[in-house]
This record gives sequence, structure tokens and C-alpha cells, in this order.
Amino acid sequence: MISKAVNISILLFSLLLICVGNSVAQIGDDYVPIRTKDSKLPNEFFNYSKATISANINGGEELDPLKLDKLSRDIYHFRKEYTEGGNFYLNNELTNYVQGTANELLASMPNEKSNFTFYLSRSMEINAFCMADGTVIINLGLIASLDNESQLAFIMAHELSHYIKKHSVKDMQRTEQVLSYDNTNQGSNKSIFRRLQFSRDSEFDADGFAINLLAATNFDPNEGVTALEKLRAQDTLTDSDPTQILLTKYFETEYCHFDSAWISEEAIDKMNSREKSNRTNLLAQDFGDLLSTHPEIEKRQYALKEIISNFNFEDIEKTDRLERKDFDYIKQVAQFEMVENSMRSSYYTYALYNAVRLLEYHPKNIYLNTTLSKSLYWISYYKEINSGKSEIRQPITTNDKAFFRVKAIIENLDVTAAKKLSYGNAKILSDELPSNELTLFYMALNTEHYLGKNASFTYYNKYLKTYPNGQYVTFVNNRLDQMQ
Ligand SMILES: [Zn+2]
Repeated sequence: MISKAVNISILLFSLLLICVGNSVAQIGDDYVPIRTKDSKLPNEFFNYSKATISANINGGEELDPLKLDKLSRDIYHFRKEYTEGGNFYLNNELTNYVQGTANELLASMPNEKSNFTFYLSRSMEINAFCMADGTVIINLGLIASLDNESQLAFIMAHELSHYIKKHSVKDMQRTEQVLSYDNTNQGSNKSIFRRLQFSRDSEFDADGFAINLLAATNFDPNEGVTALEKLRAQDTLTDSDPTQILLTKYFETEYCHFDSAWISEEAIDKMNSREKSNRTNLLAQDFGDLLSTHPEIEKRQYALKEIISNFNFEDIEKTDRLERKDFDYIKQVAQFEMVENSMRSSYYTYALYNAVRLLEYHPKNIYLNTTLSKSLYWISYYKEINSGKSEIRQPITTNDKAFFRVKAIIENLDVTAAKKLSYGNAKILSDELPSNELTLFYMALNTEHYLGKNASFTYYNKYLKTYPNGQYVTFVNNRLDQMQ
């Protein structure tokens, strides 16, 4: 009787979930990354000449022709660089979501709508940009780090404001030094970036506009303050991961034991101070003091709180927008794409970190588990060929302490331990997912790497037998030929 009652209540509960949850998309047992090559970049992007950009600059006619020409040229080069890097997502659920949010924001200003084009970039930096011609770029890293749609709406409204209020033109008119600086640094990235930045006054102005627009379109203006906090997090060491990441779960196998000294406070501090000076040098090299505008964010937050406290929100019809489940799903997709983009950029430690974070919530996800195995293999591979150094490149996109823990582990592993760890993970995974092509392939690779050629024959041959038309067949055949 008891079990029957339990069964019925489970059934009822499941039905309830289906009813409540049918609008909530979920990422299932696997994840298929979004591919850019499946969709074409719109033609207007390539047909975009400097003359067109110049004609689209809001208030451009107020600038003297020389300055207008420089501004158009900078935007042209910036767009070109972004496009040619294959840096955009096109026509998928993420871009649709961004466009949908933009449409809602622009609903109260129908005349402005046609002035803007929105792009979602693969960049993992928590940021967004607006150019003087109405091109708005939202970074993947931003969506992956925000909590709700109102925060996204705030950042987007802020960017729209830069165009609507002609900030580029006004800032350029004001700043004679920019031109004299550029005369001696023709066409360098540094000068382009410098000129596309907005002044402090323009930033405050844009924040104020954004709060009003949010209120007028039923987003929650209070979320603006938290949205700014997310931007600031890039410059401060934070420990945002509530789970603290169960590192031992992924870095302990029967072949390799987890050594807690790897992530002692001392090890983390040492790494953090080295990272910090690297980062400072990198930024100083590329952008001078420009990116150190982040301390300004505290002032912007203070100013925002002032604006919000003086605002009369009583007339605003509250909607359930903050509860909108869509955003949670979109954020998840963005987080999975962070893993994918880290792998594409060969940021293996960062991929590992992003994957481990998500595994806490999707422990059985095949994509995450295979990525974990892939990134560990390439880390151990590069450690071996670079005599101990694991990483070739790394992004400067996070200041999350949890990332430094993962990085500390990876750095402190010697070559043999790295091979053991990678092998151990591949073995666990291929036992769990015996009929997965990728796990079998990485099992073969890891076996060769850790136990040598003879031991790997079995796995390579098993791969060929199981997946005669598999994606790694050519590679595996070459491997076997070389071993003869
Ligand atoms: Zn701004």
C-alpha cells in the first residue's frame, strides 16, 4: 500500500512538473554545441563600407569631417576584426533571445529600432559594446554571468543610450588630445580602442537613461546595480562558486591521488599575485590605463542607487519577467558554450574549470564528461611536450578564485601525474559510456600516452571495429601505421 501511494504521488508530482514545466527548456543528457558555419553572416555585414558607417553615425554631421572620417574608419576596422575572427553567433536560440530583449526595450521607441543591429560574440569577457553607427555587440561571457533578463536589459539599454545620446560624437568633439595622440599612432589597436571608449560623464549619462528605459518597459531597474557588479567582478578576486567545486571528485582516481597541497591558500595566493602582475602588464601593454576604468563602477553603482531611490516606481505594472524561466535556460546554453569556446581556443584549463562547474549541476551530461576527458588529455600532452608546462595560452577573463584552484592543481601536477590523471578519467568514462565514440577514442589516446604503444593497440583496433566510419578513422589508421 505504501509503495502504491508513493508511486501515485510520484506520478502526480511528475504530471505537475510536466504541466508547470512544459515551457521550461532543459539541457538533457548531452549537449550539441552551436556551430557558426551552419549559418551565414548577413550580406550587409560585408557590404558595410566606411561611407555607410559614416552616414549611420548619429549626430555625425555635427563633427568636423576629419574626425567623422576617423571615427568611421575605427568602427570599420573594429567590425572587420570581429567578423573575420569568426567571432559571431548567428541565427540560433541565443541570438534570438538577445534580439527579443532588444525588441522589448525598443518597443517604446519605434523610431529608433531600425538604427540598431545586434550581434552576439563568442568572446568570454563579461562585456558589451555599442558603436557610433548603432552596431551593438553583446558578449557570450556577459550572458553566462548574469542572473536574469533585467540585468541583460540594463546592460543593453546602457549601450543603446550611447548611440541615442550621441556619446561617441560628443566625446570626440570634446577630446582634442585623442586626435593628437592618434596622429602619432596611426591605425594601432590601441588608438582605435581608445577612441571607441566613452568618457566617464557619458557612462553616468547612459546608466541614468538605462534605468528610465527599464522602468518604462517593465524590467526591474534595481537589477542595474547587480549588473554593474558583474562587470566589476572581472577586476576583483571573487569566490562566486557556491559549491566550492568538489575538486577531489574529478582529480582523484585510482591512478592519481589528489594532493591538497596543490590548492593550499599559499599556492593560490602565489598564483594569484603572479596572474595579477601578468594581467596588469598585458593590459598596460594593450590599452594603457583604459581598462582600469573598472574602479569607476563602484561610483556608477552609487549613482544608480541614488537614481533608483528617487524614482517613483508605483506606476510601473510589475510583471513576472524576473521569474522568466527562459533566461535560466539561455544562461545554461551560454555556460555550455563557454566550455565549447574554451576548447576551440585551446584554453584547456579554462575549459576544464567551466566543465567542472557545470558538472555539479549536470553530473551525467555526456558533452561535459567527454570535454573533461579531452581537456585533461591535451593538458597532459602539452605538459609532456613543453617539459612540464601545461598551458599554451590562457584567457584573462576571470578572477574567480575557483578558477585559480583548478589552475593551481593543473600547474602543480608533474608530467607523470598529469598522464595518470588523464588516463584514470578516460578509463572511468569509457567504463561508464562504453558505446560512446569519443570516450573510446580518448581511451585509446590516453592508453598510448600513459601505458605505451603495445597497450593501445587493443583500443585503436576496437575503435576501428566499432566505428568503421567514425570521425577519427583516418587518424587512428595513421597511428597504427606509424606503430608498425
Ligand atoms: Zn558605456
